[in-house]
Formats: sequence, C-alpha cells, structure tokens
Amino acid sequence: MKSGRRFRVELTEAQARLAQQTADVCRAVWNTGLEQRREYRRRGAWMNYNEQAHELVEAKDEQTWLKAAPSHCLQQTLRDLDEACRKRGTWKVRWRSARRWSPSFRFPEGSQMELQKLNRRMTQVKLPKLGWVKFRASRSLDGETIRSATLSKEGERWFVSFLVEDGKTPATTHAAADTAVGVDRGVVVAVATSAGELLDRAFVTEGERRRAVALQRRLSRCAKNSANRNKTRTALAEVRARERRRRQDFCQKTARQLAQANALVVLEKLPTKNMTRRAKPVEDPNNPGQYLLNRAAAKSGLNRAILSKGWYRFEQALNSVSRYTGTVVVKVPAAFTSQRCSVCGHVDPKSRESQAVFRCIHCTHGPEHADVNAAKNILAAGLAVAACRESGAPAGAPETPKQEPAGNREELLLQPHHAASAA
Ligand SMILES: [Zn+2]
Repeated sequence: MKSGRRFRVELTEAQARLAQQTADVCRAVWNTGLEQRREYRRRGAWMNYNEQAHELVEAKDEQTWLKAAPSHCLQQTLRDLDEACRKRGTWKVRWRSARRWSPSFRFPEGSQMELQKLNRRMTQVKLPKLGWVKFRASRSLDGETIRSATLSKEGERWFVSFLVEDGKTPATTHAAADTAVGVDRGVVVAVATSAGELLDRAFVTEGERRRAVALQRRLSRCAKNSANRNKTRTALAEVRARERRRRQDFCQKTARQLAQANALVVLEKLPTKNMTRRAKPVEDPNNPGQYLLNRAAAKSGLNRAILSKGWYRFEQALNSVSRYTGTVVVKVPAAFTSQRCSVCGHVDPKSRESQAVFRCIHCTHGPEHADVNAAKNILAAGLAVAACRESGAPAGAPETPKQEPAGNREELLLQPHHAASAA
C-alpha cells in the first residue's frame, strides 16, 4: 500500500538557498501557467499539460533562470496545476503568493533516489541538483520503495515527505471481530466515544496563544515589505506550525487507537464545508449602508473552533490507518444524535440539560455526558447500516465509506484511478 513518511531535513546553507530558489522558480512557473490557462479560457479555449510542458522546454533557452530548478520539479508543478484546474476549475485555482504560499516542490522520480544510512539517527538521500540531503530518520525506511519525494518548508524548517510503497496488502478482516465504536466529534471535547472515553488535548498553551495574539498585533503595525515584518511573520508561522503538528499528532494517535481496537468505527456525517462557511453580511432594509446583527462574529468563532479540532484530519487519519487494521468506517447522518436518548430513543431538545449533560425527560436515563450519549446513538445508527450492508438489503441512506489513502495530496495524485481519469 502507498503511505507517506515525513522527516525533518538538515540542509547546508548552500542547499537551503538552492531549495528556496527552486521553490521560487516553481512558484513562478505555477503563476505563469495559471495566467496562461486563464487567458485561454477567456478566449474560450483550453490549455493542457502537454502543451505547457512543451513551451516550458522552449522557454528555458531564453529564460536561463528557469534552469536553476531541477526540470522534473518544474514539470511536476505543471502537472499539479493541470490536476488542480481539472478538479476545481481554472478560475478557482489560487495564485501562489510569495508571502502566503509555503514553499514545496516534488521530485517525482523516486526510483532513482539513493538512500544512505549515516548513523543511528541520520540518513541521507540524493536529490537532483541538491545532492546529498541529510534527514532525521525518525523511523526506518527498510523494505519500502520510494515513489517520490517532496521538499516543503514550514516556518524556517524544511521537511522531506516520501511517498512509499510499503509492500503490505490491505487487511480484509479485523483482529477483533464484532467490536464497534461510535464517535462523536465535538467542539468542546474533540472526540467522545460510545464506550465513554473523552479524548482531547490542548493544541496551544495559554502562553503560545498570547504570543500569537501579540505577534499578530505587531504584524499589523509593521511597515509593508520591511525586514521586521518578515521576521514577525516567520515567528508567527512557527507558532502556528507547532499547533498544526500537535493537532496532526493527536488525530493520528486517536485514529490508530480506535482502529486497532474496533472492527467498525461509526462517525457522524458532518457538513464541515457548510458549517465553516462565513456568515454573509445582511444589509438593513430600513437603513441602507448599515448591516444587521446576524451573529457573524459568533459564527466565525464557532468556525475556528470546528477547524481547530481538525475534524477532517481525523477522518483522513482514520481512513488511512483502517487500511492496515481492516476496520470498516461508516458514516451516518448527524441529525438528532445529540437530542435522542440512547436508552429509550426519545427525542427532545429539553433532554440536553446543558452543553455537557444529557438527562432523558422520558425515562430514567442520565445524567450522562452529552457527547457520549450522542456517540451511543451514532454507534446504533452505524450498526444498522452495517447490518443492512451485510444482509445485502438496501439501507436507509448508506454512505459508502471513502477509503482514501490518507496522507498528502501527492499520494492521491499518484493513485492509478486518478491517472486514468486525467488521461
Ligand atoms: Zn430515555
């Protein structure tokens, strides 16, 4: 199966300069390529990868700065652009801004990559133009075939992500048959299970939060394009990256724990995309130019809370790890799961005493943690879907679990069915 491995690299000064230069060239190629595609669309025509790749080769004769970057990386950039335009439409693909885009570029020729173990801690990989690049081998790559490598920058650090073929086949049966768990993903507690577990961790400390606010404030006062501004932005990116790493770590550990212990994991289907959409400002009909209070600020607070718990990442991590454990992931509609009693099935919003407490007004059930009660309902709904699937009868509204290989975008682009649809 394909899987992702990410390591922190230690670049020499010259390598760091070259990496940054390569990223800059890739960004320029992306933006030029996108502008060209939009120009074609304006005239009602289409531009495709092959033509752009051909033009890139010709452009290299005149624009010698293009030669600073490994040509495979540039071709890969055009391929990624092609994929992005097909998926999202030429007008929705974003420009890569020098300030906002975090540099990353891919070496697609994994089969030619040479690995060399230096000592217990460090390994090095030979990359085109950059030469031997050292990285902290926090796990072994023995027995795995590298398909591609991506260099990316986070704050001031560079990382290498390998897409590897680990030689394993997807598990078809789970070691613990007939085990199942329902999972409720919440805003206050990240994950509550039907077994009564509440799984959560703080992604930022109070000090870090204060520091982020202070940096944000300083950033807004810095003069544009000043050295101070760059410094502040880098510091802020560092704080945010730390938070992101902790969130990813939490998602992966929780997903692994749940998948290893359960043959069936039931999640609620959450319309995250709709829930996180910004509330539209509504103009006051009696007072033109003024806007009605429509709780936009409250909504954006909730949006942040939802995103910060990393629901999507959790689902991705779960789908990824269940390929190895043989876990089946089922998603059920979320409606009423927080208002239904998990014992008698009575639905009433009054049963939910508070954010955290559920006490049924119909039977004697409760008090119970509201999220755990919801997780029990989710499990019940999931078991019904799974049973229908097994007996072959059409379930109410079954959702085929998407068994996407998780990890990174690169991985998805290399999947055979994506290649087929792009051809
Ligand atoms: Zn009840």
